[in-house]
Amino acid sequence: MSLRSFLNELEEKGEVLHIHEKVSPIFETASIIQELADGPVLFFEKVEGYDVKVVANLCGTRDRICSALKTSLNELYTRLSDAQKNPLKPEIVEEAPVMDVHEKPDLSRIPILLHFEKDAGPYITAAAVSARSLDGKVENVSVHRLLVLDKNHLVIRLVPRHLFKLWSVAKKRKKDLEVAISIGLHPSVLLAAASSPPFGVSEYAVANRLLGGSLKLVKCMEIDAYAPAEAELVLEGRVSFERKAEEGPFVDITCTYDIKRMQPVVEIVNIMHRKDYIYQALLPGGPEHRLLMGLPREAAIYEAASKVVPGVKAVNLSDGGCGWLHAVISIEKQTEGDGKNALLAAFAAHPSLKHAVVVDSDIDVFDPQEVEWAIALRFQASEDLIVVPNARGSTLDPSADQKRGLTSKMGIDATRPLNVPVENFKKARILSTRKTAELINRLRRKMK
Ligand code: MN
Repeated sequence: MSLRSFLNELEEKGEVLHIHEKVSPIFETASIIQELADGPVLFFEKVEGYDVKVVANLCGTRDRICSALKTSLNELYTRLSDAQKNPLKPEIVEEAPVMDVHEKPDLSRIPILLHFEKDAGPYITAAAVSARSLDGKVENVSVHRLLVLDKNHLVIRLVPRHLFKLWSVAKKRKKDLEVAISIGLHPSVLLAAASSPPFGVSEYAVANRLLGGSLKLVKCMEIDAYAPAEAELVLEGRVSFERKAEEGPFVDITCTYDIKRMQPVVEIVNIMHRKDYIYQALLPGGPEHRLLMGLPREAAIYEAASKVVPGVKAVNLSDGGCGWLHAVISIEKQTEGDGKNALLAAFAAHPSLKHAVVVDSDIDVFDPQEVEWAIALRFQASEDLIVVPNARGSTLDPSADQKRGLTSKMGIDATRPLNVPVENFKKARILSTRKTAELINRLRRKMK
């Protein structure tokens, strides 16, 4: 399964909007994606200066991601967690559609978008970067933003996670780290790459489990790394152990500019792609970004909280919290203290989490008004608040210590206390007969 097979499925459902007008990759395409992000998949047929088509918003809704994984919202977290626990090694093949064309690197021939006005330059934003440890024993696949420097150089933002660890080991031995930068992937591969199984578990194997064993990999031509055989485009590169360049400013998931940092330079040594490849774009801070990054973390929080409280109903990394910094978790509370334990589990499961709210299962975690209502009526700051100063958090938050990655965490236990009668916490209802209900329905229709 590939980006193309999924695109075809969506095409049949009428969920793809083809844009035949000529659009510029400088701001214009990003601006259209931003304005239309709550709608269909956007397929740009004509990008000014390129003969490559661009697709965006492929994973723009929870429903679309569920349909890609052939699952339901209820099953999604279990599917993601199970895949992480049961990784399945993908088959390695010799020939692949992505090897149709291979050529000397020239990044200026790829319609890489320039998104926001003060961004440092065009950024690749929907790539899965894979690398192996020097001894070949560990493989890691993760998503990184990549700034274009020139025809054959990028700068990669390495947050101190698994790829950073592989790079640091290579750097100690004065060796570059070889990477396959794959673009145009089935959502399962991107979701797996955005998840964090323990170091040593290849996210390709997680993706392969999600795909029911159908993921095939191909060895790159010039470097020691593997790429999905059905990717649209693969950049083969070496992350320098010594050369760094300025990375940023760049608008990330928070919709604010992330700061400039010195980051490693990647030299691209070979490019391979399908004959008529489609370039996959992703608007930073848009719904697709929030979902691809957030969903695997929601699954991780769901699983961690389920280990410490008897029942977790739902988790939402809310849109207002950038799909990354705020979680709302609903639980079936059985014992006093369950709420706080769920909070601790959530912070452990998602290190970037900043604020978390735990509510009872009668509260809809996707309805901000209801969540606020629960905080207003079921929460006492002197009893139910946890604050942890100077913990490691997201470096994207401008109110945090971005250089050192330190932040304060706050947990709000808005579950009702068990020693007060449950009736005191329920929304009151007015007794309504069928006659009244019918009358109200008639009046509603009149109002429209
Ligand atoms: Mn990893």
